[in-house]
Amino acid sequence: MTARIIDGRALATRRRAELADEVARLGAEHGVQPGLATVLVGDDPASRTYVGMKHRASEAAGMRSFQHLLPATTTQPELLDLVDRLNADEAVDGILVQLPLPDHLDAREVQRRVDPAKDVDALNPVTAGMLANGEPTFLACTPAGVVALLDEADVALPGSEVVIVGRSTLVGRPLSIMLTLPGRDATVTVAHSRTRDLAAVCRRADVLVVAAGREGLVTADMVRPGAVVIDVGTNRTADGRLVGDVAYDEVAEVAGAITPVPGGVGPMTVTMLLANTLHAARLRRGLS
Ligand code: NAD
Repeated sequence: MTARIIDGRALATRRRAELADEVARLGAEHGVQPGLATVLVGDDPASRTYVGMKHRASEAAGMRSFQHLLPATTTQPELLDLVDRLNADEAVDGILVQLPLPDHLDAREVQRRVDPAKDVDALNPVTAGMLANGEPTFLACTPAGVVALLDEADVALPGSEVVIVGRSTLVGRPLSIMLTLPGRDATVTVAHSRTRDLAAVCRRADVLVVAAGREGLVTADMVRPGAVVIDVGTNRTADGRLVGDVAYDEVAEVAGAITPVPGGVGPMTVTMLLANTLHAARLRRGLS
């Protein structure tokens, strides 16, 4: 069997064009241009690349982008002060503080400070708690991108066995909640670094989502024939290539459908950030 490829790049291109149309309509009808503020502390090259992508994507969708590049020596009070100013800034609808922050900074305190009405990265505990309660709220971008890819691939989730490898607050945990909510109705197992017999757990999955950050973690013998495999992982090989957590070539021989890396989940993460920012712009003005 050779798996169908779930093309995240193509879906992201389509969604971003739709978002750009909606942004243009919001401007024409209400004179509103959504604004996204990004905050980067220090000069980690990967983080700089991610923030740059978000900046370009928001401008391409017709939004305003406010980039705040702070030195690695920034103190916690200085960072909190910037978040306060962005919370109060009428032109800013969404705030994203790029992680990881330098070790001397407390990321959780910063996330708690972001106004939940502007929490487009969905990392404020109020936002996470609302998701856990099943209340409408911003959805964390990467898990929301995974759900969009599953919808695009017409995966029948109700009653299905989903195994998520990884329990982080950024990916695995919010995804497990999204997929068990009424309407999605999957039966979800969350595996992690302490899981006994990961291979056996993974083989149960109709849908296997891997978000561990371990190159080659999932091999063909761990995948049920015909399963849908979503690879969230991003790892750099010794020769500088970007690869996922799934041994792509061999798993594609067994799976029914699979996302590539790059070109799978990554483009959808940024797309969901734009969707959240547009949503925030509308919500703050009582327009949706
Ligand atoms: P994390 O380090 O916070 O969490 C990793 C999780 O994987 C942990 O819960 C850990 O228990 C589990 N894990 C680690 N090794 C394991 C093993 N051998 N067996 C089973 N479980 C194991 O990472 P994260 O922030 O959740 O990110 C996970 C991966 O997804 C990373 O590669 C990251 O770069 C990638 N990522 C990609 C995007 C994207 O847009 N494509 C977005 C976010 C994260």
